[in-house]
Amino acid sequence: MFKKILIANRGEIACRVAATARRLGIRTVAVYSQADAQSQHVAMCDESVLIGPAPAKESYLKMERIISAARDTGAEAIHPGYGFLSENEAFAAACEASGVVFIGPPASAIRAMGSKSAAKALMEKARVPLVPGYHGERQESDFLRQQADAIGYPVLLKASAGGGGKGMRIVERSEDFEAALASCKREAINSFGDDRVLVEKYLQRPRHIEIQVFADTQGNHVYLFERDCSVQRRHQKVLEEAPAPGMTPERRQAMGEAAVNAARAVGYVGAGTVEFIANQDGSFYFMEMNTRLQVEHPVTELITGTDLVEWQLRVAAGEPLPLQQQDVHIDGHAIEARIYAENPEKGFLPSTGTLLHLRLPDAVNFAQGHVRIDAAVRQGDAITPHYDPMIAKLIVHGDDRSQALARMQQALNAIEIVGPSTNVAFLSRLIATPAFAGAELDTGLIERHHALLFPPADAVPVEMLALWLAKLMASDTARHDPWDSVQGWRLNGSYRRTLRFECDDQDFELNLEYRRDGWRMTTQSQQALLNHIAIDQADVSIQIDGRHLSGRVVRDDDRFHVFWQGQHRVISWSDPIAHAGESESEGGRLTAPMPGKIVQLMVDEGASVEKGAPLLIMEAMKMEHTISAPANGKVEALHYAVGDQVAEGAQLLSFAPEAR
Ligand code: ADP
Repeated sequence: MFKKILIANRGEIACRVAATARRLGIRTVAVYSQADAQSQHVAMCDESVLIGPAPAKESYLKMERIISAARDTGAEAIHPGYGFLSENEAFAAACEASGVVFIGPPASAIRAMGSKSAAKALMEKARVPLVPGYHGERQESDFLRQQADAIGYPVLLKASAGGGGKGMRIVERSEDFEAALASCKREAINSFGDDRVLVEKYLQRPRHIEIQVFADTQGNHVYLFERDCSVQRRHQKVLEEAPAPGMTPERRQAMGEAAVNAARAVGYVGAGTVEFIANQDGSFYFMEMNTRLQVEHPVTELITGTDLVEWQLRVAAGEPLPLQQQDVHIDGHAIEARIYAENPEKGFLPSTGTLLHLRLPDAVNFAQGHVRIDAAVRQGDAITPHYDPMIAKLIVHGDDRSQALARMQQALNAIEIVGPSTNVAFLSRLIATPAFAGAELDTGLIERHHALLFPPADAVPVEMLALWLAKLMASDTARHDPWDSVQGWRLNGSYRRTLRFECDDQDFELNLEYRRDGWRMTTQSQQALLNHIAIDQADVSIQIDGRHLSGRVVRDDDRFHVFWQGQHRVISWSDPIAHAGESESEGGRLTAPMPGKIVQLMVDEGASVEKGAPLLIMEAMKMEHTISAPANGKVEALHYAVGDQVAEGAQLLSFAPEAR
């Protein structure tokens, strides 16, 4: 086995590889770009080498620099992770040439599978079933159109060199073929520098089912069963699970053997994935082979009890596969959700920014467990536009699919992220749709259930408003239970006020009545009695209409992030103190609209001031508020000194507006 390896990647996959290496007693070398100097993967490795500026082209894609880093540090092998150089045959060849082991297949296998067309030609020879279509050399428009007509519409045009869902066009009718071909070729040349395309029958309601295969250098091959990755957006995976619901043992064996044949046909070594597209009746066709570890490999690890990175390392070191086919078994069910910094409501546009607050569920990292998190981010880290916006992978295991689903829902509910927009709430709705819960899977699931997945923004639930209110009102002095403290509250009779707040870009009003038994909150549509508040940092528990509930409220300046039962709402308070005095100046009084403390006096008694001049600063709800002169005039008397507590409604000073 190796003594030291270099990890030519970043983010969660770099940490994932480092975790296994550490467990096996292998030393690790990280490479990093300037943007990643403080990142988790650097911290997790034993040594690290700076390889260039932030853009991947100048760092993580710089082959020579990475290979020199391996040589300089004495690393015997390079793990490429996924993305970046993982499927680059030149890189695999350069490693081989410099005497560093590339932890992956031989360059020749990467080349053979690099073009979708060439791969299909090879698979045809190996008798692996293919989607009906044309994947030959001829590229004239008329010829390709004749092929499409013969296949029957709809057809799918694919860039031979494509990947990541790019360079694909669905063509519904012969008349549309030419325009679609031109547009597909344009995208292909721009994205991949190669405008060759292939034509395939476009399957209706297909499933994406892929097989994990492994081969060693001694001629052994195994398949570690399937993953269903049908739930996609823009042809990219969102949820992955194993085993595939509805898979029969016969079909599993047929697909597994087809995948192993595909691997054999290209002299494959290491971890690979053979992707199939399957009809609802179970018939399946080869789509492509990914010659690396996949993002979704953890679901396979959780159902087979394996560590695929360990297998990769062993195979690369020349050892035989740890298990043979008859020794690999499926235990339970696993589901993975990719947590992205993105905005599902805006077409899944990536989002960036600092993770101001990050709370992930209790989980095992990078290893076996009911709830597993593969992540490389910590609170305070930033999601930058330089790299993939994936924040974490959440993987759950259960005895069966329904237990796994329940664990997934629970774990998603426990996630709190303040900073960039994320898809957490979307994922939570997605796994709750009857279609996903009922395992009615196909690649169009998200689009078909658009209305369910993107419900119109409804009013903030009264429970979340109550949690927000409780946190907002928790001042230093009335921290534990405002009902124990008389400070600031009118005890004789009730007292009412109106709070204004903003949520989802809309303004709302909340009427609040202070009563002996609690706060009665009334919004346009809802009413509730709130009492028994207990607050410990972000943990807020309350009683609402006699019902106890708890949630979390994280404050970012004047924005309160309320997390409750998997929902996340951002509520901003339209500060009433900021408006104080506007209507009170007439009577020459300035009163405190909420309980608080005087922290600074900015004028002396008798001072003449101009409208808007700051008069004093009070602190309430841990925020400072400046009370300003409502008009030109004179400060006749100050009624409090610095440090004084003031009750709600207390007159702070006497002010005489200038006679007009
Ligand atoms: P890429 O390499 O860009 O990821 P793939 O060939 O793997 O492209 O296809 C990506 C996705 O596109 C599949 O998972 C599936 O959802 C859809 N797809 C591909 N081929 C077909 C087809 N013939 N019919 C219907 N959908 C397809």
